[in-house]
Amino acid sequence: MLWSLIKIIAFIAIVTGLTFGGVHLLNMSGGADVTIAGYNANLSPLELAIGLVLLVLAVWLLLKLMGLLLATFKFLNGDETAISRYFSRNRERKGFTALSEGMMALASGEGQLALAKAAKAEKYLERPELTTLLTAQAAELAGDRRKAEETYKRLLQDDRTRFVGVRGIMKQKLADGDTATALKLAEKAFAIKPKHVETQDVLLQLQASNEDWKGARQTLTAKLKNGSLPRDVHKRRDAVLALSEAREVLAEGNSINAREAAIEANRLSPDLIPAAVMAARGYIEQDNARYATRVIKKAWEVHPHPDLAAVFAEIVPDEDPAARIKRFRALTRINPDDPETIMLNCELQISAENFPEARRALRDLVETAPTARNLTLMAAIERGEGSDDQVVRGWLTKALTASRGPQWVCDKCHNIHAAWGPVCSNCGSFDTLSWKTPASGEVAMPAGVEMLPLIVGQIADQSDETEDETLDAEVIDAAHEDEK
Ligand SMILES: [Zn+2]
Repeated sequence: MLWSLIKIIAFIAIVTGLTFGGVHLLNMSGGADVTIAGYNANLSPLELAIGLVLLVLAVWLLLKLMGLLLATFKFLNGDETAISRYFSRNRERKGFTALSEGMMALASGEGQLALAKAAKAEKYLERPELTTLLTAQAAELAGDRRKAEETYKRLLQDDRTRFVGVRGIMKQKLADGDTATALKLAEKAFAIKPKHVETQDVLLQLQASNEDWKGARQTLTAKLKNGSLPRDVHKRRDAVLALSEAREVLAEGNSINAREAAIEANRLSPDLIPAAVMAARGYIEQDNARYATRVIKKAWEVHPHPDLAAVFAEIVPDEDPAARIKRFRALTRINPDDPETIMLNCELQISAENFPEARRALRDLVETAPTARNLTLMAAIERGEGSDDQVVRGWLTKALTASRGPQWVCDKCHNIHAAWGPVCSNCGSFDTLSWKTPASGEVAMPAGVEMLPLIVGQIADQSDETEDETLDAEVIDAAHEDEK
């Protein structure tokens, strides 16, 4: 509306200007005498102005004509496309203008406009590798999925654009949640461009979530070779995959191969707790207590964890408490000030029914870093020392509302997992679970922290009994047993 008004005003202004100029020239005195080859002409100022404009036009026409003549001359000399090129130069210019406008529209988020410009550029340019790409992106932006897919399929036909087509369809399938097809497409894209980092990541992610551990390890090695992955990260991720492979083999019932895979995973990344646990179990099965101890100690050095303590207890399953305390010294010597080590010491003393020593071993953890676990330990100590039920209950009540302490938390989506896994069950990320205290404000879900595994005597298979009631009942039962 405003634009047409401006156009009308501009038109009137130009006409007024020209008229005014013409009248002004008419009223001017003087002029120009032109003499060419004896022929004499006297031009008034107005005639002179019109003559100048005509001259410019004539020069322009002459230049155009010369271009055409040149093209014709080239054509006669054997350049067959010269004339068509002369005429298509105009089309090309229009085409490139449309293309650049389309790209601008794409960049400014105007999908429909970009789509229209792409169609125009396609008409003039006849360069499908350029315009199809713009069409695909514009269709994607405009939310026209069918057109986008159709365009990607067209891109598949040309070697130069095949990768873009595969990637486009793959992204659509990923968005649809059709991971099986997406995986096949990712494999195809990877075959075309093995060095493409994004493809490597998508492929790895899909392979991991489809539990194709072997394939994932191959992709990981390709990533290392292409230099898109630091060596230490590769080692760690390879260990995670080796461990996942081991768990799968174990589930299939092949414990010897699983043992070897777990030991391999542990060798690759000694601080990967689940790998250390599994490797240690493998060594225990082989009656190799020395190696089992070594593996656990190595992992404890990096990160004390209740699972490690539990498997350390499994090395000698039926020893008396005093012998156990003595044997555990090899472990508790390492990282003695870590809350995990402190709580382990306390648990060992409780199982030996040495409650004053257990209280000393717990230090001031219930004040400095209260967690459900150490508050429950405190309740067990009070119970063991014969304190009032009310005191015991007081500690347990505190435990109910206290932090759960460290758990397996996804670094990416902060989801809390009951047990370690190679892939986050919430966001599907690979190797993002780490053993840490969830940020405050997040819902503290009961996780697989085995409360007092040494006292209760159920070490490995407790992860499903993590309700508060169960835990409290177990502690009280255990304490009652201690009294007897
Ligand atoms: Zn996650």
